[in-house]
Amino acid sequence: MTAPAMIKISQLHKSFGSNQVLKGIDLEVDLSQVVVVIGPSGSGKSTLLRCCNGLEIAQQGVIDICGQRLTDNGAMLAEKDLNRLRTQVGMVFQSFNLFPHLSVLHNVTIGPRTLRGMGAAQSEQLGEALLAKVGLAEKSSAMPASLSGGQKQRVAIARALAMEPKVMLFDEPTSALDPELVGEVLQVMKLLAKEGMTMMVVTHEMSFAKEVADTVVVMDGGRIIEAGVPEVIFKNPKEARTRLFLQAIL
Ligand code: ADP
Ligand code: MG
Repeated sequence: MTAPAMIKISQLHKSFGSNQVLKGIDLEVDLSQVVVVIGPSGSGKSTLLRCCNGLEIAQQGVIDICGQRLTDNGAMLAEKDLNRLRTQVGMVFQSFNLFPHLSVLHNVTIGPRTLRGMGAAQSEQLGEALLAKVGLAEKSSAMPASLSGGQKQRVAIARALAMEPKVMLFDEPTSALDPELVGEVLQVMKLLAKEGMTMMVVTHEMSFAKEVADTVVVMDGGRIIEAGVPEVIFKNPKEARTRLFLQAIL
């Protein structure tokens, strides 16, 4: 028997008022798979990710994630279960959202201390190890304002990892960065992928998608218009809309 998918989304529909943003999304992400989501601005990529950790509630459809039913046709997990689920689903945004008044290390340890009940010594050991992993061991006592964008985003990744998530969601994690800082963040994400993290990544970094993605999903107008392995999507897409989109970003 194959393991159940880590994320299974079925017929997801989401509207904001009369604006139908997701129009029946079906998507599965298996354990240790990396799914890259691409598509034009406004196609619903962020909304889809936000539905996967309960930041948005879809009116219709089902999301099973990390072995739990997060959304069931408008019904949501109870608050307590939702909070626990959110610790298992790490999210990294375009804007890093670090706590500006806390040191780098404190940004990473605050989650395990407040949400996982971890003690100071243990959380600091974990935080130092994660900062080393993202290449920022020497920045642990620095304040966020003194860091470059690429360093801030690597702290944000370490902070998400401190919850020991089973799934990581990335929403355009390098879009706000100067071009020369993109590589250092992608490198950390590639490391996570190599270690077997299950990941759903909205990005237009095609080098990352080609190297790391098991599946590339193309969204347009609230629908998945095609999905496949990177070679096929980038070299030989079925849909004219995919071709046009790729021409526009490459
Ligand atoms: P993408 O990430 O692909 O650019 P989004 O999911 O951010 O797309 O947005 C899809 C559509 O949903 C857009 O029309 C956007 O204006 C709308 N939308 C997103 N979030 C909200 C919100 N919180 N309230 C109202 N409309 C929203
Ligand atoms: Mg977006």
